[in-house]
Amino acid sequence: MAALDLIDLHKSYGPESLAVDHLSLAVADKEFIVIVGPSGCGKSTTLRLVAGIEEETSGQIHIGGRSVTSLSPGARNVAMVFQDYALYPHMSVERNIGFGLRRRGMAQRDVAARVREIAEILEIGPLLSRRPAALSGGQRQRVAMGRAMVRKPDVFLFDEPLSNLDARLRVSMRSEMRRLQAQMPTTTLYVTHDQTEAMTMADRVVVMNNGRVEQVGPPMEIYRAPANLFVARFIGSPAMNLFDARIGDGFAALSEGTRVPISSELAQVEAGRRVTMGFRPEAISLSSEGIPARVLSVEPLGQEIIIECETALGTVRSRLAPDTELSRGDTITLAFDARRAHLFDPETGRALPFPCDTLSSPLRF
Ligand code: ADP
Repeated sequence: MAALDLIDLHKSYGPESLAVDHLSLAVADKEFIVIVGPSGCGKSTTLRLVAGIEEETSGQIHIGGRSVTSLSPGARNVAMVFQDYALYPHMSVERNIGFGLRRRGMAQRDVAARVREIAEILEIGPLLSRRPAALSGGQRQRVAMGRAMVRKPDVFLFDEPLSNLDARLRVSMRSEMRRLQAQMPTTTLYVTHDQTEAMTMADRVVVMNNGRVEQVGPPMEIYRAPANLFVARFIGSPAMNLFDARIGDGFAALSEGTRVPISSELAQVEAGRRVTMGFRPEAISLSSEGIPARVLSVEPLGQEIIIECETALGTVRSRLAPDTELSRGDTITLAFDARRAHLFDPETGRALPFPCDTLSSPLRF
């Protein structure tokens, strides 16, 4: 059992440089956690603190229920895979993978057997005698994974391991990593700035910003119910459409003519208040009734098209079926599905309760 607990973890590189801001996170045994956030938000630092290659300013790290905070990196039984793989160029794949075991004094025969076992799982058996220079990017990535897996660590730490691969390989390595996790379930902390990686691989996603955790949850929960404006903007592509709105008596108005019905509870508490209202691109569709819009661009993506339109509310992005016939300059009408609206407090950014389950039809303007 190797749960990982980060307890009030804090790392400052100086008065001007706060990297991790009192972060607490409980990772269950064998859970695959993906930390996602913009560049500089503290993802790598968090990983390096767990690995022990960076020292925290304050806070605690527990693995399997015991503190590893004062232990050296080698004594923590964690394995880290870096972005650049950090393979030894003068060693064969076999020696690269077995290096850690050999250094710990494992018998040569046992090392060879363990390396072969891992090479089989990773399907790199035929490459064992090659040097890293003679491998493709994807193969190098597998060797780096093999080097981490061979030690059977309590915790895997991945720092953007797919970012040096081309787009097609990245997609196949995503499912490959899920397969490996199913085959050899291991507590994992995986860092990326790529929300698609986070959404497709994680048991739970941690969205980070400015050294803090903005939200933790299963991927679809984060998508369906972002806790605040930062998460709403960061997760989802294209991003959520956000509008200034005002709460009225039983409705929220995006502008004087555009009203979304809302529950009377919220209307009573919040009447007259300014809010930010959000609609995912798939909650906005072509309709005979709605707000007039002019198509600015059409992006055909095969399985869907994304259109960008100019409206009285500002620029709006919508996700439509791939057979929709539209061109730049067309004039259309867009309906917003009020059941899928999101409300946020524009001051704090926090999501407001928006019980709209009772609504039965899409919003009509
Ligand atoms: P991310 O991985 O999310 O891109 P990092 O954890 O690398 O972010 O960095 C978080 C913050 O800490 C950034 O503002 C970065 O400039 C700062 N930082 C990281 N490493 C150092 C360092 N060795 N010295 C000073 N500041 C650093």
